[in-house]
Amino acid sequence: MSARCIDGKQLAKDIREGVGADVKAFVAGTGVRPGLAVVLVGDDPASAVYVRNKKKACDAAGLFVVDHPLPAATPQAALLDVIQRLNADDAVHGILVQLPLPAHIDSQVILHAVSPDKDVDGFHPFNVGRLVEGAAGFVPCTPKGVIRMIESTGETIQGKQAVVVGRSNIVGKPAAMLLLHHHATVTLCHSRTRDLPAVCRGADILVAAIGKPQFITGDMVKDGAIVLDVGINRLDDGRLVGDVHFEQVRERAGWISPVPGGVGPMTIAMLLVNTLEGARRAVA
Ligand code: NDP
Repeated sequence: MSARCIDGKQLAKDIREGVGADVKAFVAGTGVRPGLAVVLVGDDPASAVYVRNKKKACDAAGLFVVDHPLPAATPQAALLDVIQRLNADDAVHGILVQLPLPAHIDSQVILHAVSPDKDVDGFHPFNVGRLVEGAAGFVPCTPKGVIRMIESTGETIQGKQAVVVGRSNIVGKPAAMLLLHHHATVTLCHSRTRDLPAVCRGADILVAAIGKPQFITGDMVKDGAIVLDVGINRLDDGRLVGDVHFEQVRERAGWISPVPGGVGPMTIAMLLVNTLEGARRAVA
């Protein structure tokens, strides 16, 4: 069996175009252009690429981008000042602080300083709590995109065994919570999970967010499973691969998302969705 591909690139394009049309209507109706502030500290090349792609997508969808590149040596207090100014700026409906931040800055302090009303990444404890409650709030972009990708297959989530490998605050935990809200029975795995291959083989839906190239191999996947690969890893030969061994797993799975062209573009599309949502809330 060869799995069908979940084409995140195409799905993200459709969503971005939808947001573009909604932004046009929103601007026409309110006179307000949704605005995203992008804060990038330092010159990490991967972060620079992510930020560039995010800004490009915002521009194309008609969102207004306020760019805040800051030197790597920016003191934490100065960064907090920037965040406070953006919190108070009515033209800004979403604030994105690109991670990772330089080592001398406490990321938690910074993420907690972002107004929960502009927290389009969904990392503020207020929005984390809303997510756990199942109440309306900003949902982190990557796991939100993962759910949209599963939904795009036409398969139901309800009642399925879902296994999420990786328990980070930005991907694994919120992905598990969203799957739970969609009535999956969820197992959240990590580096100390016993017999991970056996746990993964029980999954109807398998989400890999580990950060280890091609870690999920064919023998870890149930026949017909839906496999979402969040990982982005650069191999020594320059190739970009996910956390899933694509060639092996596609022979077992029913659906599989590729890397590149899977979850990555969906993360950006969800950022646009969340920024428009921020603007809608601001004028409501
Ligand atoms: P983190 O490093 O924060 O978390 C990795 C998780 O994987 C941890 O919970 C860790 O367990 C777990 N893990 C590590 N080794 C093993 C193992 N041998 N067995 C089981 N679990 C293990 O990573 P992120 O969540 O930030 O990112 C995960 C991947 O997703 C990365 O490749 C990242 O680049 C990518 N990513 C992609 C995005 C996209 O838009 N597509 C967005 C964000 C991330 P423990 O907690 O026990 O240490």
